[in-house]
Amino acid sequence: DVRVRFAPSPTGNLHVGGARTALFNYLFARSKGGKFVLRIEDTDLERSTKQSEEALLHDLSWLGLDWDEGPGVGGEYGPYRQSERNSMYKEYAEKLLNSGLAYRCFCSNEELEQMKEIANLKKLPPVYTGKWATATEEEAQDELAKGTPYTYRFRVPKEGTVKINDLIRGEVSWNLDTLGDFVILRSNGQPVYNFCVTVDDATMRISHVIRAEEHLPNTLRQALIYKALGFSMPQFAHVSLILAPDRSKLSKRHGATSVGQFKEMGYLPQAMVNYLALLGWGDGTENEFFTMEQLVEKFSIERVNKSGAVFDSAKLRWMNGQHLKAIPQDQLTKVIGEHWKSNGILFESEGMFVKEVVDLLKDGIELIPDSDTALLNLLSYPLHNTLASAEGRPLVEDKLSEVAASLLSAYDSGEFHKALEEGHAGWQQWVKSFGKSLKRKGKSLFMPLRVLLTGKFHGPDMGMAMHVLREAGLCGIITPQAG
Ligand code: GLU
Repeated sequence: DVRVRFAPSPTGNLHVGGARTALFNYLFARSKGGKFVLRIEDTDLERSTKQSEEALLHDLSWLGLDWDEGPGVGGEYGPYRQSERNSMYKEYAEKLLNSGLAYRCFCSNEELEQMKEIANLKKLPPVYTGKWATATEEEAQDELAKGTPYTYRFRVPKEGTVKINDLIRGEVSWNLDTLGDFVILRSNGQPVYNFCVTVDDATMRISHVIRAEEHLPNTLRQALIYKALGFSMPQFAHVSLILAPDRSKLSKRHGATSVGQFKEMGYLPQAMVNYLALLGWGDGTENEFFTMEQLVEKFSIERVNKSGAVFDSAKLRWMNGQHLKAIPQDQLTKVIGEHWKSNGILFESEGMFVKEVVDLLKDGIELIPDSDTALLNLLSYPLHNTLASAEGRPLVEDKLSEVAASLLSAYDSGEFHKALEEGHAGWQQWVKSFGKSLKRKGKSLFMPLRVLLTGKFHGPDMGMAMHVLREAGLCGIITPQAG
C-alpha cells in the first residue's frame, strides 16, 4: 500500500518549498490510490507554536491538499504530533539499548568538547571516541547509581557503506567511517529528530518518503536506525531545492515566499498548485496548464527533475492569469464584483454593468487586484475632454487630423451613438465603414481612434468599452450635445 507523509515543523509559515513537497506527496498518493498522512514535527518545543501549526493546516487546506490521516482527521496510526508520541520513542530507544545497538553515554559536555578539539587538531572526523562505547555494564550501573546524566548513543558500524536507491537521484551511498556514534535520546529524555522521524515513518507504515534534498544527510542516520530496529526501509525520493532567479537558495530577500503571502496578494490556489508542480516536474510535453485533477492523472515521481528549479514570480503571476481565464464567467464576475464592492470601488457587486465590464476586462487581468486599475482606467476615459466637451474640441481638431474630424462628424450626426446601441456587432460594422471612408485599417485606424476615444494607448476592446459605459450612463461622448 502506498502511504506517504508530509511532516512539517510548526516553526513558521508554509513556504513554497514545503508546499511543493506537500504537493508532490499528495499527487503521488492520489495517483497511486494511496494515503496522504500529515504529521506535525514539533519536537523542537522552543520553536514550535500552535499558531504555526494552525496556519500550516489552513494553508494546506487552502491549496486543496487534504490529508487522509493527521491532525483534525485522526487515523489508526496516530497520534500525529510528535510531541504526543514520546512514549513510543522511549520504547524503541530501550529496545536498541537492550539489544546493544545503543548504549548509555555518561560523558560530560566538557569531555565531548575536548574530544572534538582533539579530533580537530588531528584533522580527524569529529566522531565519538569516548569510553562508553565499550564500557561494561558494571561501569554503567556505577554511574547510574551516582545519578550522572546520560544520553543514549546509537552504535554505528565502524566501516562499510549505506546505500539507498533514490527514486529521483538514483543510487546514493555513504561511507560509515566518518559518521561516529550519534545521540538518539538526550539526557533530558528528549529523543532527537532523526530518531523520531524513523520511528514515526516505520510505525506509520510510510512506504515512500518524499522530501527535500537537504534531508539527505538525515537519511543516512535514519537508514541505520531502520536496520537496527528491524524495520523495512521505505523508498526515498529527495526533491531538489527551489532556487531564486540568481540560482541562490530562495529566501525572504527575494520577495514573497510563503503561501499565505501569495494568498493575501490575490493568488488562486489552483494557480499556486499548478505552478508549484512545474517546479521540477513536467509531463514531458509543452503543456504547462494543469488542474489538480490533471496533475493527479499525469504525475509521476520518476519525472521529477534532480536539478534545482528556479522560482519565477512573473511566471506564477502569468499562471494565475491563465487560471482566472479558466474560471466560469459567472463565478469570476461574482469574485471580482465582490472585490470591487469590498474595496469601495463600486456600490453594487452585481448587475449588468459588473457582468459586462468583467467580460470586457478579464483578459487583461492576472491577479484579482489588477481588476481595480483596469476598471478605474476604463472609468477615467477622458471622453469629456476629447470629443464631448467644448474645450476638448479645439484640441482634438488641432492635433488629430482627419480621423478626429471624421469621428467628430459621426458623433455629431448621431451615427456613432446609433452604432453603439447595438453593442459589439454595431461597433464592428461602424468601424469597418469608418475605416473604409478614410482608407485606413489596422493600427493606423485603431490607434488614433483609441487615443481619441479613451485618451490611452492600450486597453480593452474599444467598442465594448464604449457600449458598456454608454449603457451605464457613464459616457459623456454618447449623448450628442445640442449645438
Ligand atoms: N520536519 C522536517 C521539515 O520540516 C521534515 C522531515 C522529513 O520530511 O523527514 O523540514
